[in-house]
Amino acid sequence: MATLGTTIKLADRKELAVLIVPTAYLPSSFPCPALGEDNLCGIHNNKPSRCKTMPFYPYRAERYQADLLTPRPGWACDTSTSASVVFENNKIVFRDDFDHERQELLEQVPILRRYAEYMLKYSPSLINSLMHAASKTKAGHVVTSLSSFLTATKSADAKKIAQQQLPILKTYVEKTAGLTQLADFYRNYLNWSKEMAYLSQRQE
Ligand code: SF4
Repeated sequence: MATLGTTIKLADRKELAVLIVPTAYLPSSFPCPALGEDNLCGIHNNKPSRCKTMPFYPYRAERYQADLLTPRPGWACDTSTSASVVFENNKIVFRDDFDHERQELLEQVPILRRYAEYMLKYSPSLINSLMHAASKTKAGHVVTSLSSFLTATKSADAKKIAQQQLPILKTYVEKTAGLTQLADFYRNYLNWSKEMAYLSQRQE
């Protein structure tokens, strides 16, 4: 899945800039479920485009990628002078994954736009949540559910995806139950598992 940058017009004629990004909703203290005990990706050949393109972000223009290469804590990157050059003259050197994800992004914009319009129509409180998030630090985030996306976009695979997602959500309900610092995660996992249970039983 890809991203969509858009603006929402508010009642006072101001505009709110919004970036819609699919995300794995995990507490930062939890590893990716696909991470193996050997600390390697367990689905390397089939991992999501977002993982393949890291650390580059194709929703930014190519020339604005350099700062993404600054190593962060926990990274095990080879930054020696003998390491391969991956970004030069504002161009990505090994660019297949970047180009592929950017193309996916462009193709998925109409679907994400439909989702944004649906959410603004049927969940008007979303604007308040976005305003609140934005007011705190001039930028913030609001998380919505995959089930709402499947419903809004009338996904033909909604039932099948819901059946796959439901046991995963139930696992994370169990993993976060009783953990005070993860109460928000627990509440969302619980609510989303109910939504997925409904979708997974929906009549075709
Ligand atoms: S590369 Fe992606 S899918 Fe694989 S372990 Fe890392 S985050 Fe998970």
